Amino acid sequence: MSDQCIFCKIVRGEIPADIVFKDDDCVVFRDINPAAPIHLLVVPKNHVVSLQDVGPADGEWLGRMMALIPKIASDNGCDPGPQGGFRVVINSGAHGGQEVGHLHFHIMGGPRPWAGRAAPNA
Ligand code: AMP
Ligand code: ZN
Repeated sequence: MSDQCIFCKIVRGEIPADIVFKDDDCVVFRDINPAAPIHLLVVPKNHVVSLQDVGPADGEWLGRMMALIPKIASDNGCDPGPQGGFRVVINSGAHGGQEVGHLHFHIMGGPRPWAGRAAPNA
């Protein structure tokens, strides 16, 4: 946990978010500035700054979080199959366009064209 981190504050319930799922590993909530009709953030409960900070020892929880994505996407309105689907983005570090320094997966879906940004910080 990090005192000033906005996503840690959401994990602790100190600031509101539109939470759609939580388990022992992560919290999932709607992006406040959506780039697509469906735009969710999958956020580990532990304060990990970015994908640059994970390694082989993190494979289990990272894998569990990744494996949740299809169900979270379909539960929140992403259409199944090749005609539907979703995009997953992990911005990492300044060169990766990361703005919030707490690891998160963007899940973006819904019919195109998307009204917002084509991809976060693209
Ligand atoms: P990134 O550029 O990958 O770090 O993405 C950060 C994302 O967090 C952006 O898409 C923001 O819109 C989103 N965001 C920032 N603050 C909040 C918040 N309080 N609740 C929900 N989403 C947020
Ligand atoms: Zn944090």
